[in-house]
Amino acid sequence: MATVVILGAGIAGHTAALHAKRLLGKSHEIVVISPNSKWNWIPSNIWVGVGKMTAEQVTFPLAPIYARKGITFHQGLAQKIFPEGNSDSKRPFVEITYTDPTRVGEVAHVQYDFLVNATGPKLNFAATQGLGPGGHTVSVCTAGHAVEAAKSLKDVIADMKAGKKKQIAIGVGHGTCTCEGAAFEYTFNVEHELRAAGVRDMAEIYYLTNEYELGDFGVGGLVFTQEGFQTSSKLWTESLFRERNIHAILGAHVSKVEAGVIFYEQVDGTEATLSFDFAMLLPPFRGVDLKAFDFAGTDISDKLFAPSGFMKVDADYNGKPYEEWLADDWPKNYRNPLFPNIFAVGIAFAPPHQISKPRKSPKGTLIAPSPPRTGMPSGIMGKLAILSIKELIENGPFAQVPTASMADMGAACVASAGSGLRDGSAASMTMYPVVPDFLKYPNSGRSAPDTFGEIGLSGHWIKLLLHYMFIYKAKARFGWSLIPE
Ligand SMILES: Cc1cc2nc3c(=O)[nH]c(=O)nc-3n(C[C@H](O)[C@H](O)[C@H](O)COP(=O)(O)OP(=O)(O)OC[C@H]3O[C@@H](n4cnc5c(N)ncnc54)[C@H](O)[C@@H]3O)c2cc1C
Repeated sequence: MATVVILGAGIAGHTAALHAKRLLGKSHEIVVISPNSKWNWIPSNIWVGVGKMTAEQVTFPLAPIYARKGITFHQGLAQKIFPEGNSDSKRPFVEITYTDPTRVGEVAHVQYDFLVNATGPKLNFAATQGLGPGGHTVSVCTAGHAVEAAKSLKDVIADMKAGKKKQIAIGVGHGTCTCEGAAFEYTFNVEHELRAAGVRDMAEIYYLTNEYELGDFGVGGLVFTQEGFQTSSKLWTESLFRERNIHAILGAHVSKVEAGVIFYEQVDGTEATLSFDFAMLLPPFRGVDLKAFDFAGTDISDKLFAPSGFMKVDADYNGKPYEEWLADDWPKNYRNPLFPNIFAVGIAFAPPHQISKPRKSPKGTLIAPSPPRTGMPSGIMGKLAILSIKELIENGPFAQVPTASMADMGAACVASAGSGLRDGSAASMTMYPVVPDFLKYPNSGRSAPDTFGEIGLSGHWIKLLLHYMFIYKAKARFGWSLIPE
């Protein structure tokens, strides 16, 4: 019997856990270690952040699902990996500290045969002084953060109703942030809410981003086919910003935030400030605080993890110049090269390089959107790790593990531009592949017929449908496995 331990119960980890039970669970043990008691459908945090949904609508307790499925659940934080075991345990193990209120602070060792690292990002607010809920800006990265954001927004709207003009800043809080799509969504949802509240004319809205051009989204922008014509995400997004009268500050690195003031620097060398009454800035991501040790107890974290803290997998990390990277540099099976029984999936794996062109300000500050690892690829990778483990268990050295490179994977993204069954809208985009392959598709790096976009009310309905569908799937209700990742 093999023990499969999954670290993290987010989109990648929870998907992996459910498939692991379905595909391996009768004869093997499936264990999940994750610090939160609840699962969160993070994409809908945007709607929590504007008061359109409650935290309860986007979360649910994990323990009953795992109990029903026969998955062992430790509510705790993985802190150390011993991939060679140690003098007390010949088997590899993970050291965890419980966050479960009944065992809080207790340390335990959980042995594994296969480890799936799906720990997602550490929300690195500390990278920018004054950023985040502990500082002067709000966030929508967790359901709890989004609830606080909605409260602050409500207060600002009340002030506007009382006749006070307000300045709103939404975007990313560091030059190396990712997830610009989420900042874009929140901008347009806030704008939509201000119109609904009848106070749009009382606010100036600024979108502050590290993207060099609008519509970059950390994937170098998209060339779309729309109604038979080719257009670009830049054109599309610029038009939306003009239409809704939202000002954009591009190619920006936020150096610090003080009460009501953002200090930023741009690629062209501009150094300026933006004052605000309400600001939601996403933090940069890094890998969570996991360490690794060899049998003798020597710290080997630098062998398992990249300097960003994300785990190294089967990618090309040789650090070649941006102009020389190839689609083939991207990982295919997400196995750690040193310990191939360890997988890193979703945001937890270290990308080999940026997709968007990295730039530096004249002062030398790096302003480079990091590659997004969105929900769909994260789910696909989670399932892929389990299919690989099944193959390895069944065929040992003769195993032929499946592959799913982001350079060979499509993704669908529906970016909400305002919630409402009759007046909502969303930008629906599909891209293939996520990581451009300029050898296969010399024009834009992506397949033109498979990369398209549409904006309108139907996009909102799709986004709402996805909300209910993915929560249904994550609750492992009847037929869940038929719903694609
Ligand atoms: C506001 C926002 C909106 C978004 N909207 C969209 C969208 O519309 N569409 C889309 O496709 N993507 C969207 N994304 C991105 C999407 O949320 C991520 O792609 C996805 O959550 C990544 O999945 P993951 O499993 O890698 O990480 P997560 O979902 O973040 O899960 C990580 C898990 O690991 C746990 N963990 C952390 N540290 C440890 C530890 N030390 N030990 C054990 N467990 C640990 C966490 O508690 C969590 O359960 C959005 C992201 C944000 C922030």
